[in-house]
Amino acid sequence: MESYEFNFKKSFGQNFLRDHNIVKKIVDSAQIKENSLVIEIGPGAGILTQELSKVAKRVIAYEIDDRLEGVLDQNLTNCSNVDIIYTDFLKCHLKDDLKKYEYDHLYVVSNIPYYITTPIIMKLIEEEVEVDKIVIMVQKEVGDRFGAVPGKKEYNSLTVFLNYYFDVEKLFVVNRNQFIPKPNVDSIVISLTKKKQLLEVKDKPLFFQLVRDSFRYKRKTIRNNLKHYDLSKIEQVLANYHYDLTVRAEQLPLEVFVEMSNHLA
Ligand code: SAH
Repeated sequence: MESYEFNFKKSFGQNFLRDHNIVKKIVDSAQIKENSLVIEIGPGAGILTQELSKVAKRVIAYEIDDRLEGVLDQNLTNCSNVDIIYTDFLKCHLKDDLKKYEYDHLYVVSNIPYYITTPIIMKLIEEEVEVDKIVIMVQKEVGDRFGAVPGKKEYNSLTVFLNYYFDVEKLFVVNRNQFIPKPNVDSIVISLTKKKQLLEVKDKPLFFQLVRDSFRYKRKTIRNNLKHYDLSKIEQVLANYHYDLTVRAEQLPLEVFVEMSNHLA
């Protein structure tokens, strides 16, 4: 990218990887199986896209910035199995887009734009695309949240959703010097592998809403954050786990949220 006259846009979270070894390490850790479709969010100049193209049957990359079209065309001339879609990933119809392809396994592998980390993950979760594994690079502090356990200050609603769907693994830290332009934060590569057995949730939208509401005001108790729910039912579930309504959401493990929502459903 140093060789291009490109005006990086901070508002698009544009920090491009410069080191091919790190790119290879990211792709290797995804262990992409045969006949796979890989989704990339924010290909930038295509450094990761090139490597993904070698191991995937097909790569679909969503890029919001169409100023990158010339660079991507040039860098991906030999990658006939890559489709770039110039659009905001958050606005795309992922399920419809995927219908056009045939594949046995689905992955998301990306150095994503960090300013929309949570919306990207929530979109992948809530649209219920059957993804085998997600390997993404995120800001290091955010990565620490992903695997946080109850009682830690990093534990929040995103942690609960991630723990419901995925086995979360921190893979490796990437120093800020590995990007151009250099960001103010270090990064970490995280892998999210679909759990083999999910806990039974009777009403998904209710579960998502209940978890969000439970964490709405961090310092507030469950009684205060959930006052518009049937508190007697919530109290019963909490009692089974030796908690009461004065507990805070950050203390509660995934199973308690699942049981609360099932009892309310
Ligand atoms: N993956 C590349 C670039 C990472 S920078 C690399 O590692 O070098 C983040 C990229 O995401 C940029 O190309 C930016 O334009 C793109 N991007 C930002 N917001 C986006 C959105 N909403 N949808 C799709 N792409 C987006």
